Amino acid sequence: MSNARAFAANSPTSRLESVTIPRREVGPDDVEFEILFCGVCHSDIHTVRNEWDIWPTVYPCVPGHEIVGRVTKVGPKVTKFKPGDLAATGCMIDSCLKCRSCQEHLEQYCDNGATIFTYNSHDPYNTAPTTYGGYSDRIVVKEHFVLHVPKTLDPAATAPLLCAGITLYSPLKHWNAGPGKKVGIVGLGGLGHMGVKFAHALGAHTVLFTTSTSKIEDGKRLGASEVVVSKNADEMQRHIRSFDLIVNTVAAPHNLDAYTSLLGRDGTMVLVGAPATPHPSPAVFNLLMARRSIAGSGIGGIAETQEMLDYCAKHCITSDIELIPIQKINEAYERVIKGDVKYRFVIDMQSLKA
Ligand code: NAP
Ligand code: ZN
Ligand code: ZN
Repeated sequence: MSNARAFAANSPTSRLESVTIPRREVGPDDVEFEILFCGVCHSDIHTVRNEWDIWPTVYPCVPGHEIVGRVTKVGPKVTKFKPGDLAATGCMIDSCLKCRSCQEHLEQYCDNGATIFTYNSHDPYNTAPTTYGGYSDRIVVKEHFVLHVPKTLDPAATAPLLCAGITLYSPLKHWNAGPGKKVGIVGLGGLGHMGVKFAHALGAHTVLFTTSTSKIEDGKRLGASEVVVSKNADEMQRHIRSFDLIVNTVAAPHNLDAYTSLLGRDGTMVLVGAPATPHPSPAVFNLLMARRSIAGSGIGGIAETQEMLDYCAKHCITSDIELIPIQKINEAYERVIKGDVKYRFVIDMQSLKA
């Protein structure tokens, strides 16, 4: 065990501050890397503030699961990475690798419940009371859960792909977004802006739903063919019964019927936003009268995450970011909550040395 520098919160109401945390020694299958950049996901804020009853926070809490870095050391059994390589890790760092879901490359849905998330999860190595994430100068991760970062991608703008990117790419692929399909993305935040980029790149007719009139131009620039201000009932009404797929990224409870009624027959709305309190119950008639579905989706498996990174390299896709030093993290959280970020904060981890 050795020490690493990090930023942590000590309670739901405390500011994140500089701390020292333990990291395990590099085992036979492990990759150690120096963290260069870490994205700031709304899930970091939900966790730091202990907002999810289903997943209580263990303190100190070191968030961060959009991690890009440079490999410093590998274990003797590691074959795919060597010191000096750019590497990345996302929301999970372990799973059973044996169950049906793991065998089908869906480690995030491990049937044995053995998915270990990058932070605030049981630490199988007992290095600490909980896993510690990427707001830190280095991390040790099992090779299976480490991704290659294509050389052509800007490493800072790649970091958000590890959560925001894959969380939108996976459902868009699973529900066949593509040419001839009308796809809606609800909310233009970190996840939503990646959804607009991917749906457009996949060839779907892409419609952004936003509550912010100030984001209309950006929505079009990012790839939306149309932007609907969701507070405007007339604008919403124009799209009734017309969508094949809607991916909803909103981080707060809201009326889902406003969107299910826009789905065509057999259309699906996929919830990826994870609000702290439940949405109002949806109207069942809205679903059964057109065989519509409401579904959910969680991040993506490791193989699909690598596929997404390679797709991004091929199509020159990264996140639109605001680069900040770690000392600005508390301010950044307040801005994310206000929807005031274009469109993902990324921490320059060199600032930890300051
Ligand atoms: P974010 O950057 O804060 O974006 C959320 C967007 O939702 C906002 O920019 C805003 O867009 C819209 N919004 C916020 N509050 C709203 C309200 N009260 N009514 C309507 N719209 C509202 O957050 P994020 O990082 O993209 O994360 C979004 C959610 O996804 C979070 O709950 C996060 O925990 C969850 N998440 C889930 C997964 C998964 O695997 N399923 C992965 C990562 C994150 P407009 O201004 O355009 O309306
Ligand atoms: Zn995330
Ligand atoms: Zn499993």
